Amino acid sequence: MNTLILDAKQEQSYKVCSDIIRSGGLVAFPTETVYGLGANGFCENAVKKIFEAKGRPSDNPLILHVESIAQAEKLYRDIPQSFYKLAEVFWPAPLTIICKKASCVPDAVSGGLDTVAVRMPSDKHALRLIHESGVPIAAPSANLSGKPSPTRAEHVIQDMQGRIDAILCAGDCKYGVESTVISLVNLPTILRPGIITPHMISAVIGEVQISKSVFSPLHEGELAPSPGMKYKHYSPDAEVMAFSGNADEMRAKICSAYDMNCVNKMKCIILASAETAHLYGDRQLEIMGSAKAPESMCSSLFAAFRKYNEYDYILCETLADEELGLAYMNRLLRACGFLVL
Ligand code: AMP
Ligand code: MG
Repeated sequence: MNTLILDAKQEQSYKVCSDIIRSGGLVAFPTETVYGLGANGFCENAVKKIFEAKGRPSDNPLILHVESIAQAEKLYRDIPQSFYKLAEVFWPAPLTIICKKASCVPDAVSGGLDTVAVRMPSDKHALRLIHESGVPIAAPSANLSGKPSPTRAEHVIQDMQGRIDAILCAGDCKYGVESTVISLVNLPTILRPGIITPHMISAVIGEVQISKSVFSPLHEGELAPSPGMKYKHYSPDAEVMAFSGNADEMRAKICSAYDMNCVNKMKCIILASAETAHLYGDRQLEIMGSAKAPESMCSSLFAAFRKYNEYDYILCETLADEELGLAYMNRLLRACGFLVL
């Protein structure tokens, strides 16, 4: 398949892309979280193509992207008040809300579940594409299943060229981690942490739980509250290793792993914060951002995984797993298989 590469700054790109969406094709597009791989959310056949292009298991449901609360309302049934409170305060935002689904939502979108995940993105290119398409756009991240999510157009081109109809290219994604996912079906529960944090949410709707699968792997036979949690995620070919402790302890563990592996001719890179970078001497490292502003570390994580994909080891510092640090740690834990040294 020939993949059209289009510039989001060009007016005509939106007509081309929305025509493709309406006629059942696949378009990758920028959002403020990561690039999405979109199809007409009302068209079962189009949605099935997303799973094929990504190699995504068909029981892992997709998020429907909308341009307004009114458009979201039509996709749900039995909507709780907490939906309106959250949507009115936060949307457009990197916040995905799960409620019971309306019958117009195809089973292919919800992975056969009775619920559906919906989000109104804030990225202007994404909103314009949804608007011109005139339908909700079903979209997971535009990477091959299991690989790090794409935060730049070039990442999408690497993974998706030849597999989809078009790629709408803009700059780097603002946040670089996927949306916070919250289920309102029973007690409000965060299934995936993101830029909209537990405190921000509880300030609006009161108590919110955090699913334990955010912190730990599922045990065999355990039912996943969110099917995506079953699958290994975000992994580059390099082995990702995460290290815990205070700055000194982390430094000691990371330096020892680095030196031992380098002696054995392995290629290693250290992902460090601006605050700790000076502790590693002349070892090769990438400064991810400031540990005091975990959103800066989040926005460079997936790009770093891709940049050092061909290395043997990516040695990572950990952050406190609360608020924005929780978003960072969730991706890191999945990339290293939940093994923190
Ligand atoms: P992605 O769009 O690939 O970044 O992932 C969307 C995430 O939301 C996956 O982890 C899905 O399993 C999860 N998700 C989507 N819809 C639902 C749903 N109805 N119930 C629970 N989790 C969902
Ligand atoms: Mg994904």
